[in-house]
Amino acid sequence: MGNNESLPVRSDLVGLKPYGAPHLDVPVQLNVNENAYPIPDVVVESMRSAVDGHFAGLNRYPDREFEGLREHLVTYLHGVNARAGQTVELSPDMIWAANGSNEVLSHIVQAFGGPGRTVLGFTPSYSMHPLITTGTGATWRSSARSDDFTLDASTVGAEVAEADPDIVFLCTPNNPTGTSIGLDVIEAAYENCSGIVIVDEAYAEFSRPAQASAMTLLEGRPRLVVSRTMSKAFACAGLRLGYAIAAPELIDVLRLVRLPYHLSEITQVLACTALEHADVLLENVDRLIDARDRISEHLSNAGFSVYPSDSNFVLFGNIASPHELWQKLLDRGILIRDIGIDHHARVNAGTEEETTAFLTAVDEILAADP
Ligand code: PMP
Repeated sequence: MGNNESLPVRSDLVGLKPYGAPHLDVPVQLNVNENAYPIPDVVVESMRSAVDGHFAGLNRYPDREFEGLREHLVTYLHGVNARAGQTVELSPDMIWAANGSNEVLSHIVQAFGGPGRTVLGFTPSYSMHPLITTGTGATWRSSARSDDFTLDASTVGAEVAEADPDIVFLCTPNNPTGTSIGLDVIEAAYENCSGIVIVDEAYAEFSRPAQASAMTLLEGRPRLVVSRTMSKAFACAGLRLGYAIAAPELIDVLRLVRLPYHLSEITQVLACTALEHADVLLENVDRLIDARDRISEHLSNAGFSVYPSDSNFVLFGNIASPHELWQKLLDRGILIRDIGIDHHARVNAGTEEETTAFLTAVDEILAADP
């Protein structure tokens, strides 16, 4: 951040660092968990014609309640649940959407966090969870994961009971570790507090075999909310569309904190079009899973410790200096993520060529300095 010492910044924000993944223009970008594949031409064409009829009407505000988009999300989720053999009753009033799941999470924490309230998370996890929390003036409290970054129901239940938080963040598959949690862990968190339990499922579509979604626990749990995004499996990070699923009463509260008309007409139209093409957009998920598994196997054979991943990235450890590895890869035009965990780094599954480029570069670096 710039020099803001002379400004009357809120005292609880002084010294905090903004979200800071380096944004560098290099040929192989494997650092922010995006989908490596561009939007297929057939979807690009549909998007183009879908927005076409909407330009003249931009003098009007968009649908504040994004009703068409809610319907599209319900249809998509019904398909997901049917394929996974999950029975979940969903209706449009159980759906929220915003500009990325970051904004969805921020709406939830604005509504249920805020000054004097406590938010608990299990670290290492997604770095925005604490930033969103402190942004609302709530207090962040973190509990550590076990050494292999897994979480079990009894530990989570005990930690939640002890902290008695207003909000609990769970993330599955977890960023940056790639590890999933069982439904029993979510139930344990829910049963041991009277606060909101947020399950961040940003990478859910990359689980094979599919892990049961926290959506299956919504019935009878009015304090549970599941957050998802179109940024990862759907390859729509640039579109900015995240969504949440929860009881209608919880969703209704979010309308108190969102800014009016937060989803632009163009965003709504493009998101609906993308959802109509869900099958095409999700076709690359299997390719990314193959790339992820190839990375895991290769890195493991090369002597790194690798954590089982249900996402589109791999966390690997046993690195002498993550920063040095990051720099040497960058020198070869490849960007990975030094996530600030000692001796660990994270890399995205890329296209086949990008994945090969990364693995070849790692081999070269190891050969030069074994
Ligand atoms: N949750 C998790 C766990 C993430 O890793 C990310 C993005 N890195 C997000 C939420 C936010 O994604 P978006 O705002 O693009 O939906």
